[in-house]
Amino acid sequence: SLPLDYDQESERVRVAVRIRPKNAEDLSDVDHADCVELQPEVLFDEVLTESASQKRVYEAVAKPVVESVLDGYNGTVMAYGQTGTGKTYTLGRMGKDDASERGIMVRALEDILAATSASDTIEVSYLQLYMESIQDLLAPEKTNIPIVEDAKTGEVSVPGAEIVKIRKLDHFLKLMQLGEANRHAANTKMNTESSRSHAILMVYIRRSANEEEETNQETGMAAGRQGHHVLTIRKSKLLIVDLAGSERIGKSGSEGHVLEEAKFINLSLTSLGKCINALAENSPHIPIRDSKLTRLLRDSFGGSARTSLIITIGPSSRHHAETASTVMFGQRAM
Ligand code: ADP
Ligand code: MG
Repeated sequence: SLPLDYDQESERVRVAVRIRPKNAEDLSDVDHADCVELQPEVLFDEVLTESASQKRVYEAVAKPVVESVLDGYNGTVMAYGQTGTGKTYTLGRMGKDDASERGIMVRALEDILAATSASDTIEVSYLQLYMESIQDLLAPEKTNIPIVEDAKTGEVSVPGAEIVKIRKLDHFLKLMQLGEANRHAANTKMNTESSRSHAILMVYIRRSANEEEETNQETGMAAGRQGHHVLTIRKSKLLIVDLAGSERIGKSGSEGHVLEEAKFINLSLTSLGKCINALAENSPHIPIRDSKLTRLLRDSFGGSARTSLIITIGPSSRHHAETASTVMFGQRAM
């Protein structure tokens, strides 16, 4: 059961925008012009400029979600944006040579491991969602894995995927590396780009606590049982989602497989957008059934769950149309 004083305000989606620094391509482009101008009235919860460090981004965007997950609530952190704007850098960067470059996935696990003890269980699955099919990035032979929803509790899980217990950050880093290698291999085999699928890290947390049973202050009932200990187990889940590139695939010229891919990406990102808008508008109907992506998010999204959305954009006028449409997606979520 959830404490009654849970902050209602936090039910809506927090939206941050992050601008990628100019890269060599931007700088060598004779037509380059900055197309992003920050205005004081810009409507985002956080604006993370080119100079924002990975640590700052984590603290602004993900840390509140991680803390809430440690308190027993579900939570989601997602990155949405055009390919090349920094979604994977923001979420999935491992920082092998430089820990200051670590992204949100590693920092979240680091904080979760630091805050929990040996009596708690931390487990992860690492999945790819491609053309409405879930593949296991930790065991690539597992494809088309079903989403399971507990009829009683509404809990969503993917028990058919590898679920790996984590005790040390090193172990997690190795799994991430394996996941990346498998993702690359699977996409080569399917002749596609990783930007055409969603990568989803699921972190399951079970915390047990020996708590003293509370006595009723008003009636003094149960006073005779003071000191009575009960074992409580809290289950929660954190989803970190590196979404497929939001760019529109040109309709003319794309056919066959590329067009099919584009349809599926469109389906999931559109249904995600609808759900986020419904949440932002406090609508009682959240159209979660429309895609596998939103079905996976069902219990980690809205209600008592905390959700952060990071909108990633590039600085260059070359992509101003995509940037504008990405920013609109974020604005509609507010
Ligand atoms: P996406 O996942 O959205 O396609 P990436 O995360 O792969 O984009 O980023 C594209 C490139 O830009 C990568 O080479 C990445 O290292 C670099 N990059 C992205 N964001 C930053 C940043 N904030 N600082 C430095 N380099 C970045
Ligand atoms: Mg990427």
